[in-house]
Amino acid sequence: FTSAAAIRAQSTIAGTFTGAKNPNGTYTVTLIEGDGIGPEIADAVKDIYAAAEVPIEWEPVDVTPLLIDGKTTLPQPAVDSVNRNKVALKGPLATPVGKGHTSMNLTLRRTFNLFANVRPCKSIVGYETPYENVDTVLIRENTEGEYSGIEHTIVPGVVQSIKLITKPASEKVIRYAFEYAKSVGKPHVLVVHKASIMKLSDGLFVNTAKEVAKEYPDVSLDFELLDNTSLKLTADPNQYKNIVMVMPNLYGDIMSDLSSGLIGGLGLTPSGNMGNVVSIFEAVHGSAPDIAGKGLANPTALLLSSCMMLRHMSLNNYADKIEGAVLKTIASGPENRTGDLKGTASTKHFASQVIANL
Ligand code: NAD
Repeated sequence: FTSAAAIRAQSTIAGTFTGAKNPNGTYTVTLIEGDGIGPEIADAVKDIYAAAEVPIEWEPVDVTPLLIDGKTTLPQPAVDSVNRNKVALKGPLATPVGKGHTSMNLTLRRTFNLFANVRPCKSIVGYETPYENVDTVLIRENTEGEYSGIEHTIVPGVVQSIKLITKPASEKVIRYAFEYAKSVGKPHVLVVHKASIMKLSDGLFVNTAKEVAKEYPDVSLDFELLDNTSLKLTADPNQYKNIVMVMPNLYGDIMSDLSSGLIGGLGLTPSGNMGNVVSIFEAVHGSAPDIAGKGLANPTALLLSSCMMLRHMSLNNYADKIEGAVLKTIASGPENRTGDLKGTASTKHFASQVIANL
């Protein structure tokens, strides 16, 4: 199937996989099923993996947040499992708005220092959108920026929320972007920023990129203001085909949802949270409470995230097989697509069609 090359994201750099094989030749992967639609889409992945005979054993863990000394903490068995296996597949985790515990997504990224979030976004053949042949990659700084969680009430009615940018974290994610560009054959790195306004914080990110670029004479470096990128991406995403975008945390969060919209929505876009030792793969979307428990969720984004994971683990043949079957199923018509893709299929029906197309 020609478009099987679609969501290829080699995650073979920085977080080179060092997980050990079990005596029976399988790998154990930590599975965080997540909230809302998480268990439904995780079931689809498990069924398809069993049918494809992927040599993986799932190790499900509970990440219900613990509050220890006022700090949101992961349960130790979950931490131990991820550290042992070096790789996890994760469903979405809901975060209370304006109150309650710190995001468990953030907690996971910080606990395992998953400094780069890779978000490829490629048009799906057979599913029509206003844009054709979209092929963007966005790398999001994953540990700081506006997500640092440093907030204070100064006086009633006045709060301060601190955007933290450090040179070491900027350097890591920018170097990752250059390495990634080299590994996938994209000749340009584009830093997306607002250093026109945040001269010090985004300025540090920009200046760090200029320094790191000296190590990569074969990859060009450019800069663009975030608002301009938003306009250009929606006007003509093909301008970003040969480019790896890299940006601070919040910008990456927003721009990756925008990119998802260009190819048909959040049900389709995968991601990998990359660290030096551990990597966690997850869909870009959240827990979709509006459709949770109804059997309507599209498992594609989690499946494609799992394919990124398989490539990271050098199980490329299985990744190709599953990705090919997913894309073939989507292209086969609305009766085999979920509602978010203007189809009528349930999650279970979609999964059974993917299995039939393996
Ligand atoms: P969302 O991504 O959950 O949903 C946005 C819209 O997209 C909804 O209409 C939803 O039904 C649809 N959608 C998302 N995934 C889909 C899928 N696989 N199939 C079909 N439709 C899908 O965003 P939200 O509603 O803003 O957030 C809900 C919760 O998820 C919040 O608690 C938020 O904090 C959390 N969240 C978690 C993550 C993560 O775990 N990485 C990411 C984003 C949001």
